[in-house]
Amino acid sequence: MATPDSLTGETVELLQQLIRNQCVNDGTPGSGQEEVSARLLRDELDGLGLDVEMIEGAPGRSSLVARYEGTDPDAPALCLMGHTDVVPVTPDGWRNDPFGGELITDADGVTEVWGRGAVDMLNLTSSMLVTFRDVVRSGIRYPGDIVYFAVADEEAGGLLGAGPIVHRNWDLVQCDYLLSEYGGTPTHGRDGTTVLVTNSEKGLGGRRITVHGTPGHGSMPYATDNALVKAAAIVSRVAEAEITPRIDEMFTDRVRALDLPAETEAALLDPGRVADALAALPPDLARNTHSCCHMTFSPNLLDAGTKTNTVADKAELYVDVRLLPGETQADVDRALRDIIGPDLLPSVEIEMVYPNMRDADPGSPTDTPLWDALADAIRMAYPEARVVPSLVTGATDARYFRPRGTVAYGAGLLSSGIPLEEFLNRFHGHNERIDVESLALTTQLWRDVLDRLWT
Ligand SMILES: [Zn+2]
Repeated sequence: MATPDSLTGETVELLQQLIRNQCVNDGTPGSGQEEVSARLLRDELDGLGLDVEMIEGAPGRSSLVARYEGTDPDAPALCLMGHTDVVPVTPDGWRNDPFGGELITDADGVTEVWGRGAVDMLNLTSSMLVTFRDVVRSGIRYPGDIVYFAVADEEAGGLLGAGPIVHRNWDLVQCDYLLSEYGGTPTHGRDGTTVLVTNSEKGLGGRRITVHGTPGHGSMPYATDNALVKAAAIVSRVAEAEITPRIDEMFTDRVRALDLPAETEAALLDPGRVADALAALPPDLARNTHSCCHMTFSPNLLDAGTKTNTVADKAELYVDVRLLPGETQADVDRALRDIIGPDLLPSVEIEMVYPNMRDADPGSPTDTPLWDALADAIRMAYPEARVVPSLVTGATDARYFRPRGTVAYGAGLLSSGIPLEEFLNRFHGHNERIDVESLALTTQLWRDVLDRLWT
């Protein structure tokens, strides 16, 4: 078997290649072109005697699945899932080439791989392949199957990737356990080291609010029934709404892991004081923390009127709504009706942006063999660390698996050099990069999980 150091080298190289492939998903079906990376990964697995399947969600939008069979058909299967697409960049904001995949050592002697996807999530996609391949090469057999799934189109909601594949090709990706993005962020505070592993994510609840008015001549606006004016009022109410915070155990653990001054921590955990406490935090940290304890509403798109000289008789407002685990679509409608208020409610229709949106999944339980294996594996690197469940504020492809009964966590393992808010800022941000030490920790983590899961 290869030494850990040479495996890290394989992860670094593969990550560099995946970054350079520039599978940029801008949300249009023709973008992404993940086939380039799917072919690369297929070549990486060549000659191992595995059945490797490519599944094309649309022309050029290929995902790859490989399964390494276990010795016991009844043992639970584990899937390692990484997406191959990345979001676009604004090159002007970058200090280095966003698609160079360069290995750069900074003034502090920290060596990092630079480029779009370095933390979201080609770091995991590459390290998962390297560990998977190392296991297959070395001939080790575990009781359960191990599935490697490199999936396209995560950044546009998985409609050309995980969504249809889980639906139509479940036999290929079938698994009882799933590891994917993201987790493994260590913080060191008063209570020692805490590592966050995500077991849940916020649900999607976007709404289209159609506002009706009465047309008239733009030269006589006095006392008209203008749909755009009413929509603007609704936008303000949505933006200023005071949503009841949910201070649960998971939020409490997350706040404690931030190692803030004791007074700030206490205020964040007090429903009556959390709003003021958030306002006093640095904006990036406040934004993430706020999303972790609230249903959120972001009015992001407005389309109204027909002509400059005509009073608008219709406006369509789109609000991005994110649900906390366990909240329902009925909760969203109730909250929105409250926000809009009885004076404007008769003028509007509220609809889901996509049909049949689900209630937010409550998340995966943590009293599972996978959680124990993961926590033990993390403590190989961070002895004594508390491993606590956490929440992803965005949506990941894990949401397609949880309704099938799959226990899904977001994992990985970072070095101590990256504060949590700095790490979160690199997601879709400028100057995305990952240190080689984190790549080494993550590559080793997958192996340590495999060694513990079926014992
Ligand atoms: Zn991602």
